[in-house]
Amino acid sequence: MATPSDAVHVRAPGKINVFLEVGDVQDDGYHEVATAYQAVSIYEELWASPADGITVEVSGPTGLDEVPTDDRNLAVRAARLLARATGVQAGVHLEIRKAVPVAGGMGGGSADAAAALVACDALWETGLSTAELLRLAARLGADVPFALLGGTAVGTGRGDELSSALARGRFDWVLVTSDEGMSTPVVYRELDVHRERHLADIGPVPRRPAVDPGVLHALRQGDAGMLAASLRNDLQAPALHLRPDLAGVLETGERAGALAGIVSGSGPTLAFLAADEAAALDLRVSLTGAGLHAMHVHGPVPGARII
Ligand code: ATP
Repeated sequence: MATPSDAVHVRAPGKINVFLEVGDVQDDGYHEVATAYQAVSIYEELWASPADGITVEVSGPTGLDEVPTDDRNLAVRAARLLARATGVQAGVHLEIRKAVPVAGGMGGGSADAAAALVACDALWETGLSTAELLRLAARLGADVPFALLGGTAVGTGRGDELSSALARGRFDWVLVTSDEGMSTPVVYRELDVHRERHLADIGPVPRRPAVDPGVLHALRQGDAGMLAASLRNDLQAPALHLRPDLAGVLETGERAGALAGIVSGSGPTLAFLAADEAAALDLRVSLTGAGLHAMHVHGPVPGARII
């Protein structure tokens, strides 16, 4: 794909939920969550150039069949929403180069939407404030505000009510991706079914989900060992139920030296936390040697930014 020189170029990161507690379903159909996000160094690249109408073209390594290139594309929806909100008549052509696994639980579509907001705001000179962009982002999806903000943050409500969290140093992760994506709503439904079935053993759904202070402490300390001990994802059990093969991969990673492994968001990407950069490099080699598709990333990194 050629990259036009008069285009605005934006980069937006994928995310890992280092903590995700899921509460009850709300009246709007969304579950209430409390999550701690970390943006990691796997990036969607987006170029926005002047055009008639709003169009998109997507390239990337895998999963492109599942990415719509019509008005359902989240980046197109973002551009349309910004145009509507600001009264802009101009068009845009968006070129997206995906690196975040499609339907992988790492918020790739949300990153594309955040990148489109930032790029079109610059291209159309609409000059929105961060607060205004965050408000539009929340209308596009629960994870879109975080893709704008990046870094490390706590999300409540649907995950879109953000407050930044202090994080010191860097955390090294090895991601293991899957060829087949997973649908987020299907994983949430599986969680509801699982909770209904096991009500007697696991107790009622938490009334008000909240991020464990231990996670925030570990992030503040920049302590990978401490963070490994407090990783939690309520979507992990239903994701493993739908994809039992992932349980074996989690064990492989932990045997190969990861401090801990966790399903990222609604899966199927797995995120293994390593003690440091050298340990992550070793882990990546071991997992690749075991025939898995593994990559080393680090966090936290900034949100959607013009390059
Ligand atoms: P979630 O943010 O819901 O956890 P995810 O990270 O698992 O999602 P995404 O890659 O963001 O997965 O996409 C989920 C679905 O959204 C895809 O299957 C696709 O149909 C749709 N979609 C719409 N626009 C995009 C886009 N720009 N990139 C990827 N998927 C998109």
